[in-house]
Amino acid sequence: MNTDHWHFSDKVLAILPSMPSSKLDTIIIGAGAAGLMCALTAGQRGRRVLVLERSNKVGKKILMSGGGRCNFTNLHISPERFISANPHFCKSALSRYTQWDFIDLVERHGIEYFEKQTVNGLSGQLFCEESSKQIVAMLLEECRTAGAEVRTQCDIHCVDHTDGFHLETSQGNFSAPSLVVAAGGLSVPSLGGSDFGYQLGRQFGLNLLPVSAGLVPFTLTDSLKELSSSLSGVSCEVIVSNARASFREDLLFTHRGLSGPAVLQLSSYWKPGESVSIDLLPGCDAGEKLKTMKREHPKSLLRTRLGHCLPKQLVARLEILFWRDLAEKPLADWSGRHLETLAGQLQEWTIRPAATEGYRTAEVTLGGVDTRELSSKTMESGTPGLFFIGEVVDVTGHLGGFNFQWAWASGYAAGSAV
Ligand SMILES: Cc1cc2nc3c(=O)[nH]c(=O)nc-3n(C[C@H](O)[C@H](O)[C@H](O)COP(=O)(O)OP(=O)(O)OC[C@H]3O[C@@H](n4cnc5c(N)ncnc54)[C@H](O)[C@@H]3O)c2cc1C
Repeated sequence: MNTDHWHFSDKVLAILPSMPSSKLDTIIIGAGAAGLMCALTAGQRGRRVLVLERSNKVGKKILMSGGGRCNFTNLHISPERFISANPHFCKSALSRYTQWDFIDLVERHGIEYFEKQTVNGLSGQLFCEESSKQIVAMLLEECRTAGAEVRTQCDIHCVDHTDGFHLETSQGNFSAPSLVVAAGGLSVPSLGGSDFGYQLGRQFGLNLLPVSAGLVPFTLTDSLKELSSSLSGVSCEVIVSNARASFREDLLFTHRGLSGPAVLQLSSYWKPGESVSIDLLPGCDAGEKLKTMKREHPKSLLRTRLGHCLPKQLVARLEILFWRDLAEKPLADWSGRHLETLAGQLQEWTIRPAATEGYRTAEVTLGGVDTRELSSKTMESGTPGLFFIGEVVDVTGHLGGFNFQWAWASGYAAGSAV
């Protein structure tokens, strides 16, 4: 599909049919992943839909995602890849709109995609070959053919509920018997992150679970910050764990601290003040490996041998940290006890992050609208006609396309019910 003509501005969106507000069936707040999926699904069912978006563009996070290629789903969707106070809640929606349904939609629009390859083989992560703009264009095209209207640059001043939902906005007043809140979470304010969805949850008396930044880099202080800063750009495969979770993926040192997929994943399970453990030699017995090095290369220095398994710059910094006194000793001079101690340090390097980078760079917001307040089949709350979908709900996916799949699936669930 040629996407050049889509500028996602209000001018372009004005070509969508404009409908009299009195005839609306559903108003959707937020034209992100979940809101657009909900709009096109409801529109295809003949519902008269209006989507109100505060920003000047729709789908800003889709556009920025996956380095501009949108990791739009994952081949291995399963409820275990989602974090929620109620781990069963996501099952119904995920099974009624699956990754295969979204892949089918992508294929019908002729969008080419690929599965990301990692050192451990195929990851299941699907990305656009060309551009994430194609996903936004696809969703808008589906909205257009389904007759759903999308308005950008629309500020919602207040939402009232008396015999239907009544919205006062910068573009006039709108009313409908149902309202879908798809305003996302707090992550990345410059891409639309806001607390509006939580405010509405509160206004309607829903329980909200504490929110925190997820899929976010760790910051470090003092000597650890100096270490990571000196290694900025260096990455290697590790296992990062804490008491609740463990991920084997790449770790990236940055100027501020630690990032990379392994760290982003663990950050969603991290609590302030906790330490994390890093295994720098994943999948091998470091004690045995060091003994073999000593046996086979007794005249070598440790840094030379370790430089074959880990980035050399990292080895140089680890040397200062862990075996400064033995740095110039050939392996033959290392005692069994020294090798054992080092094996432990390399496989259980314990680091206490100072904090995370917070909502400024977090890919998701954990917590939010308590799922016990919603129907798992329709996403409707205890207030009839009021629905919550996407990131505003307490369902957060792992890194790798899981969050978009939740947005598509929950959007479809509400779009099928409004
Ligand atoms: C940089 C980045 C990269 C990411 N990459 C991926 C990826 O590759 N794969 C993946 O699965 N997930 C990814 N994510 C996560 C994914 O983007 C979110 O989980 C997903 O967008 C959530 O969809 P949503 O529709 O609930 O919220 P959003 O997509 O955030 O949409 C919410 C919309 O509501 C609008 N809004 C907010 N307040 C108001 C208001 N008061 N009035 C009207 N409109 C309002 C916002 O402007 C926004 O357009 C990424 C996130 C970020 C920040």
